[in-house]
Amino acid sequence: MAADEDVNLLVIVVDVNPVWWGQQILKESQFTLSKCMDAVMVMGNSHLVMSHSNRLALIASHSQESRFLYPSKQWKSGSFSESGGTTSAESTLSSSKDGKFELLALENDIVTEEIKELMAKTEVRAHLTETLLAGSLAKALCYIHKVSKEMNASHELKSRILVIKAAEDSAAQYMNFMNVIFAAQKQNIVIDACILDSDSGLLQQATDITGGLYLKIPQLSAITQYLLWVFLPAPEQRSQLVLPPPVHVDYRAACFCHRNLIEIGYVCSVCLSIFCNFSPICTTCETAFRIALPPVLKAKKKKPRPPTLNYLVS
Ligand SMILES: [Zn+2]
Ligand SMILES: [Zn+2]
Repeated sequence: MAADEDVNLLVIVVDVNPVWWGQQILKESQFTLSKCMDAVMVMGNSHLVMSHSNRLALIASHSQESRFLYPSKQWKSGSFSESGGTTSAESTLSSSKDGKFELLALENDIVTEEIKELMAKTEVRAHLTETLLAGSLAKALCYIHKVSKEMNASHELKSRILVIKAAEDSAAQYMNFMNVIFAAQKQNIVIDACILDSDSGLLQQATDITGGLYLKIPQLSAITQYLLWVFLPAPEQRSQLVLPPPVHVDYRAACFCHRNLIEIGYVCSVCLSIFCNFSPICTTCETAFRIALPPVLKAKKKKPRPPTLNYLVS
């Protein structure tokens, strides 16, 4: 089977924004970050056991950094080895005691440790509330590129990115975000979006452009089910499934001057920057625009003349 040779790489980007996850309403509904991470690990494990050639990466998108949860630095530094034989880490981390597949046990341990460390490191800074999602997606693309470079030529790498999005969109990241999306489209990387809270215009565009799935999950407590039913099957199998209907895509762009989402604005003909107000010089590429005002000026100049003439004649 040719399909056996394909390597399916799934990169899951989880929004771990501490401000969003710290909301009181979530505590009341008992939907916590650790529950969400459990669901993500169930999905990651399921992806890994579906085929021995499947590969997984997990990235946490925080408001202060983007961090690889798996494969992590600990993995690379050799505290964990791929065969499952842990050396120095064995005493601190429980590896497969219950007969669980060792790779999965290790993966879960690593992810748990990394996320604990990341959240413990979180500093309370009031001005840093936005998730660094564009950066995390760029990291995901770089990782995919690295894996594809390391691959044997006889294997084909099929990659996709799943974003689990919690906090609001950040219009300030609009440019970086769109660059990442177009880079993904060029590399045939599908971006899927699983939305926990308010709709994300940026991710609607990302999924629309790359041919991915966008779903705002109706019930947070059922996240595991949505991940397994909707997002686990590979993009090629999706035509055979009855999936949630496509959403209306919010295609508004953010202006480069105020980062507001606008429907109508001015576009620089040189660099395609978007502005909500007219300005004589493009702030991005410093092009000075020729101002097309003469018709208005002429009309204004002409108008005062007739009255003066009229006055003289009479
Ligand atoms: Zn503006
Ligand atoms: Zn310009």
